[in-house]
Amino acid sequence: MSIQEGRDGRFLPIVMQAQVADIVGGFRTALLLNLVSLTAAVLILRGQGEADPAVALWYAAALIVIGVRALSLWLLKHRGLLQSAPLLSLRVLWIGGFGLGMVWAALPVVIPHFDAIGAHASLLIIMGGMAAGSVIRQIGYTPMAMSYSLPIFISLMVSLLFQGGLDAALVGTLLGFIIGVFIHRSLWAERLFISSQLARRDATALADSLTRANSDILRQNRRLEALANRDPLTDLASRVHFHGRLAGDIARAAVLGEQVVLVIFDVVRFQAINDTLGHSNGDALLREIGRRLSSVVDDGSLIARLGGDEFAIIVTGKNAGSRGHAHADAVLEAFRSPLTWRQRQSTIALNGGLAVYPCHAENAEDLLACADMALYDAKRQERRGLREFDPELRRNAERGRMIEQDLLKAIEGDMLCAWFQPQVDLGSRRVTGVEALVRWHHPTLGFIPPPEIVNAARATDQSEALTARIVADACLLVRKLDALGHSDITVAVNLSPREFALYPVDAMLERVTHAHGVEPHRLEIEITEEAILDPAHADTQLTALGQAGYRLAVDDFGMGHSSLAYLIGLKLDRLKIDRQFVQDVSLSETNQKLITALVGLGRSLSLDIVVEGVETEEDAAELKRLGCTTAQGFLFARAMTAVALVEWLADNAGPARVERRSKTTGRTRLSLV
Ligand code: C2E
Ligand code: CA
Ligand code: CA
Repeated sequence: MSIQEGRDGRFLPIVMQAQVADIVGGFRTALLLNLVSLTAAVLILRGQGEADPAVALWYAAALIVIGVRALSLWLLKHRGLLQSAPLLSLRVLWIGGFGLGMVWAALPVVIPHFDAIGAHASLLIIMGGMAAGSVIRQIGYTPMAMSYSLPIFISLMVSLLFQGGLDAALVGTLLGFIIGVFIHRSLWAERLFISSQLARRDATALADSLTRANSDILRQNRRLEALANRDPLTDLASRVHFHGRLAGDIARAAVLGEQVVLVIFDVVRFQAINDTLGHSNGDALLREIGRRLSSVVDDGSLIARLGGDEFAIIVTGKNAGSRGHAHADAVLEAFRSPLTWRQRQSTIALNGGLAVYPCHAENAEDLLACADMALYDAKRQERRGLREFDPELRRNAERGRMIEQDLLKAIEGDMLCAWFQPQVDLGSRRVTGVEALVRWHHPTLGFIPPPEIVNAARATDQSEALTARIVADACLLVRKLDALGHSDITVAVNLSPREFALYPVDAMLERVTHAHGVEPHRLEIEITEEAILDPAHADTQLTALGQAGYRLAVDDFGMGHSSLAYLIGLKLDRLKIDRQFVQDVSLSETNQKLITALVGLGRSLSLDIVVEGVETEEDAAELKRLGCTTAQGFLFARAMTAVALVEWLADNAGPARVERRSKTTGRTRLSLV
């Protein structure tokens, strides 16, 4: 603090209040000391036989002044003026001090022949001591000290100087110096006092603002914590809270030797509900789901919304294992009855994945991964309900991860390629086409089934790259077949139904066929009925493919529920009847009736009918009898590499076929070696 501020602070209320407090603090003692000293002075004078009426009068005046001072303090205190009017209080106090100082100063005048360094030396000591004591005591407010001390000092100095004699003159002069020193020190002490008060004020203000800031921060922290811990939409626990709680519960369970059950739910087809009804209705539905969960799980177990349509329940404590399973079952049961929200009613279904600590995982992260794997499996199987984690799921997940990780390398390299399975005319056994089927022999996992490859490609956003690779292999084969004079053989490629929604299939086909110089009519595109059922994405693209000249076939026909009118509108070339209706057709009257109906349908719509999965001569003969013309199956050939196919075609009759008897049916089966 600068001196300037210290000086400026002289009339600050806070400083004056401190000065008042400093004076009042020792006021009673000071008055008492004065009373004692005054009485002592009178007694001394009496002892010296000098107590005349003037001294008595002086003593009486002193007592009155002391009384007035005490009364004035009492008034200031009781009117609250000490705090509210510090300047007035200081004035009243220093005037009182001046009065008492004047009383003391009058003593040498009252005593006839005052001899300060002789007979009345004791009075000089008492008066000097009182004056000096006041200066030392009243350090906060100079006028207070000076108003009392100066009259006493001056009275003593004047008495000494005019008493006569060198000794008295010397003591008087010395006293003058002492007065000067006292005034100087008193002013210095006052400045120090004021600056210390200002420093204290600043320190208090700083401490106050720090306290305020601290409590603000604490309040904000509490608010943020509450916000982070609650899911604002459903008011269930948030994901953040869920993670903390799961880790804490597991740590506790580890010590107590208990179990922790984690169940994760998600809503079947929530995305579709959200898309059709709008996000605000979707949110209202999630809130209602949260309410129903809370009404079913009411034993204090934590219910959280992990995000989107994913909810979780953590069950801990006694019998957590059985309670967790019971909760999961109760939740699925509760959702069988319809939900009412925003004047709507709908039944929604949940999928659930359940995992148990310590049976399935050793820590929170792993337990969550286990419950996730179980949930994923429940969803994958499209079987509404609950799936409990088992180690097989982890192995599958690990396998899936490896497949996804290595897929791109395989597509770009030689490990993955198309193999080709011939399609033959049932009468002449002449090859009319081949179907390209993806094959991948993984270095550690071995043969990967095509549906797994297709799913992995979709999951990693590589569907286009995969199909483009198979189409490229198909084009290479077309070029080879052309060179060998087999321009009548078409090559079919499979297209996953969902690919239409992922990328422009027609543009990809155009790019690849163009690059290989292959005419579109040499390729056939096989789409399952599922694609046809999703006209939103497939309609225009299928029409575009037909117009571009590609042949179109519906794969696995009979498994879906295509609208016939829609099929006619699409100008298809072929229907491939699913293996399920073909196998053992020679023995199944139902399948025979079905094939007959489908052949009739094909004829009336001018569509080729291809039967796939023909494995026995008996079935082939039966299919031919029923009017089928084109067939595919292990009876004729399995899928093979392009090189093997060319050899097989050159061989005309195909590679040697070994006859063997089926152990189960005893019927004749023929297969490639
Ligand atoms: P799909 O299109 O119905 O293909 C026919 C499947 O039946 C092939 O299985 C083939 O090997 C098998 N098959 C052929 N003849 C017989 C038989 O006589 N008996 C038996 N039991 N099976 C026979 P694969 O190659 O395992 O393919 C399975 C499915 O994977 C295919 O069914 C197709 O939907 C899909 N797929 C295969 N390659 C591709 C591809 O390149 N792209 C896409 N999107 N899907 C493909
Ligand atoms: Ca197919
Ligand atoms: Ca098929």
